[in-house]
Amino acid sequence: MNPPPPVAEVHQFTIDEVVAQLRTLGVRGGGVLLVHTSFRAVAPIECGPEGLIAAFRLALGDDGTLVMPTMTDGETVFDRASTPTHAMGITAETFWRQPRVLRSTHPSGSFAAAGPLASHICAPQPLSPLHGRESPPGRVYDLGGQVLLLGVGHSENTTLHVAEAIANVPYSVSYPCLISVGERVENVMIAETDHCCENFAKMDAWLRDSGLQREGKVGNAHARLCASRDIVAIALEQLSEDPLVFLCPRSRACVECDAARDSVDRA
Ligand SMILES: [Zn+2]
Repeated sequence: MNPPPPVAEVHQFTIDEVVAQLRTLGVRGGGVLLVHTSFRAVAPIECGPEGLIAAFRLALGDDGTLVMPTMTDGETVFDRASTPTHAMGITAETFWRQPRVLRSTHPSGSFAAAGPLASHICAPQPLSPLHGRESPPGRVYDLGGQVLLLGVGHSENTTLHVAEAIANVPYSVSYPCLISVGERVENVMIAETDHCCENFAKMDAWLRDSGLQREGKVGNAHARLCASRDIVAIALEQLSEDPLVFLCPRSRACVECDAARDSVDRA
């Protein structure tokens, strides 16, 4: 029998190495950092998702505030102390369950935060818009925070929904969400600027051309780091030229973007 082919060694990053990578990328000590991440792309890392979270917090220091999305599916009444995240990844799911991490109250669009500005970022917000100025990513924008996309692209970047809210884009799609009103449970429709979000990837070229996106490696993942205000400013420029710039053309037959386009035609 032939021996099995050699398996390529994948380097397991130590927490200190990840901290150094985050600093080289430009993560600001004492700042506010909103992270969207795919742990699978970053791994392997010492201590797994807990190790990655520890690296974020060490890079930020005691004066820094870490923020992650912990959105839920709206199919059960949201309890910020027990409802698991939906499609947010193991890092965010691990983060909100840690001690001294706050979670905001939106029944489908919650975020978790830890650090001195956590309670401000997680303060109550309107049901709609989900990601407006008065929401955790909107507050990260107002506070001059940074956005880190780690192993994911701009299609996962909730700060672009902040830009859509500020631009008051003409599309909106409503989704049902169970909420408790006193003793009763009600199914409420919540309007969102929703679509497939694939065209958010256009931001890469616009931010690179403007020199406003830093890129590098964190763990094994490709990382993008931007100022939240730069993301919003560039998106607002594009939205002022074409308010539907982030929607797929009708010719793509994208169900989600067509629903968003239909909402404009109805208005
Ligand atoms: Zn689409």
